[in-house]
Parts: sequence; structure tokens; C-alpha cells
Amino acid sequence: MRQQRALPFILFLAAMPAFSADTAIRCGRLLDPASGKVTENAVILVRGERVEQVGTAVPAGAKTVDLSRYTCLPGLVDSHTHVLLQPEDERGAPPVLNKSQAFRTIQGVAAARKDLEAGFTTMRDLDSEGAGFADVALRDAINQGIVPGPRLFVSTYALTITGGHMNHAGINPDIELPEPATLTDSRDAAIAEVRREVKYGADWIKVYATGTLRHIDPVTLEPLSQFSEEDLRAIVEEARRWHRDVAAHAYGGQGAKNAIRAGVRSIEHGMLMDDETIDLLVQNGTWWCPTLSVYFPDSEEELTDLRKRILASHKEVFQKAMRKGVKIAFGTDVGAFEHGTSAKELARMVEYGMSPLDAIRSATIRGAELLRLEKEIGTIEPGKYADVIAVEGDPLQDIGALRQVAFVMKAGTVYKRP
Ligand SMILES: [Zn+2]
Repeated sequence: MRQQRALPFILFLAAMPAFSADTAIRCGRLLDPASGKVTENAVILVRGERVEQVGTAVPAGAKTVDLSRYTCLPGLVDSHTHVLLQPEDERGAPPVLNKSQAFRTIQGVAAARKDLEAGFTTMRDLDSEGAGFADVALRDAINQGIVPGPRLFVSTYALTITGGHMNHAGINPDIELPEPATLTDSRDAAIAEVRREVKYGADWIKVYATGTLRHIDPVTLEPLSQFSEEDLRAIVEEARRWHRDVAAHAYGGQGAKNAIRAGVRSIEHGMLMDDETIDLLVQNGTWWCPTLSVYFPDSEEELTDLRKRILASHKEVFQKAMRKGVKIAFGTDVGAFEHGTSAKELARMVEYGMSPLDAIRSATIRGAELLRLEKEIGTIEPGKYADVIAVEGDPLQDIGALRQVAFVMKAGTVYKRP
């Protein structure tokens, strides 16, 4: 009898070392994007998935990760990604026509790993471009630890209109094809689609408030406005009922104004926004994801006159938005270009006049705020997820240092080490 009673006590003692299995990360330098302060020889203490403490001493029994040659900072947030899209999908026919969803999902698994290993511990994935609910499946598989990847917030299908963005162009009208987005040509259809997407796992609702490059008027640069303000308000209100936010693809023009006035949480791209629209962003506290890099073509032939005007406008809008105090969140459209290379966008932001610290903020604390996760991620402090990356050199001096991330921890688990 005595022995039996002693057993739970022995089990309790055996469980004790679990507490001292905490990890201590020794950082040569630790950058806090919130304050902009850099602390030398800092120690991040991790317990389970969370940051326990930031100090200078390594407690007895803690596993130590030696990053004393590196600068540590919080894991990065990319607020505009397409994990189920690959660069080759941008060149030929849309992937809904020449790839199975199964194949695209496998590619997505590989892409998620590349993006994580590049330092992106959280991503808002802004539509599967016709790969159905594979983004939900990938998010869940990552959360369950089946495959490695960033913490994903997904939007499944985007809402668009017949003849608009992500609706096949130039097809024989007698052929029925799967679409890369959902055609919601009435308010009722849009509301029903929001419900369907939420039902099957969408975290965000993505809407194409304007068309794409082929819809831009070559003379006035006016993009195609796809939804009225009232339609967009109905989408935002339906999403809100389910505690979801709306991200609007909008290059500018009336479509962007409609989206901001309707209450979307973020405008994506926005390279043709006029001054009135930039002011509307400020007045409404709407976020902007500029996605600067993705509009640079791969080859000289693609650098048409129209493209040059669009790139020039993007730069001008970015600089005005910074001056006027628009809330800018880092977002790239990765998938349209090589996964694992999103940090090149940071360099572009700095090239256009943003300070390296503000560029890092856009990809940490600001991204966290856009996602309403400011209590969970974005800085390294007690209680938040232990999302930590490290680079050689000083990213405040050379933002390019973030293109070579040497160490990645997400929620206390190490995915990459020097
Ligand atoms: Zn996109």
C-alpha cells in the first residue's frame, strides 16, 4: 500500500525536469522593434510555446542556443501571401487549368517551409487562387505539427465579378471551366459566399474591389471598379457578424474609395491611389499593404510604358502615404515570385525612403496589429509566442541582412539553426 501511494509522488518528481527543459537563447544583440532599442548580450528564456522572460542570465538546467554572433528579432509577419501559388503559375495558364489541387497542395507544403525558413513565422494568405480550401488544410496541418510552416491566416476563395479579376479572359463562352475566384455578381451571392467561406474555415475575407493590370485604362490609369460601396459594405458587415475582417485588392480609383468607405480592414497594392484615397486611408484608419516588388517585371520586354508609369506611381504613392501617416503593413504577394525571398520587399521599402526600423516594424508590430494579434506576436516579450529569428550583421544598418535568416524559432520550436 505504501509503495502504491508513493508512486504519484515519484511521477511528480519525474515530471519536474520538464520545467527546466526551457530554452535560453543567447543573443549577441536583441532588437526590439517597438522601442527601436538594441540590447547587447540579451537572453530570451522560452517556456513551452511562449516567451517566459528576457534578461541576461541563463538559468540552471536550461538548454542554451548560442546566437552570440547574431542579431535576434521577432519572427516576421508577411500580411499578403499566396502559399498555394508558384512563380510559374504567373507565366502560363492559370494553375486551376493545368494543375490538380493535390499537386498545388504539395507545392504549398514546400512553399510554407521555405517561407518559414526565410524568417516568416506568421502569414496572412490572401486567397488560394482556385486551390479551394487547401489553404485551410495547410493551416490546420501546420498547427497540428504535421508539416512545418508559418502560422497561417487564410482567406480561401476571393470574391470577384464576371469579367473581373480572376475570371478567365478570352475563353470560348461554350466552355465551362473552374474559376480561380468566386463570381459574386449580386449582393446576395456575395453574402452567401462569405458564409460558405467562413463555414469551411476562412479566417479572412478577400475581395477584388478593382480589376487587375489588364483592366487599367492605358490613358487615365483608372482601374476597373468591381463593386459598389453598398455591395462592399454588405460584404464587410456579413464578415463582421462572423468576426472576420475583409482585405480588398484595390489598385486605386473608385474601387479603392468604395472599399475604404465600406470599412475593409486593409487595401492591397494601391499603387494608383490618388491623394483623396490616401487621405481616406488615414481618416478611416485603414491599413495598406503596398506589395512593391511584385510589380517589377522579370524581363525588359515586360517593362512596357504602361508598366513604367504604374511603377512610378507606386513609388510616389508609397512616399506620400509615409508622409501622411498611413498605417503600412509589410506584404509581398509571395507566390507570384519565389517563396522564401519575401525579405527583398524590405529592401525596396528602404530604397523608397522608409527607415530600416520602420520597415522592420511594418513586418512585426504593425503586421501583428493588422491581424489583431498584437498581444500574441510582433515583439519578444513575456507571454507572447516565442517567435524569434536571427541574422548576421545589423539590419538597422543593412536591411539586406534579413535576406539571410540564420535561425528561426516559431512558438518555441526551432525550425532552422546556423
Ligand atoms: Zn495577392
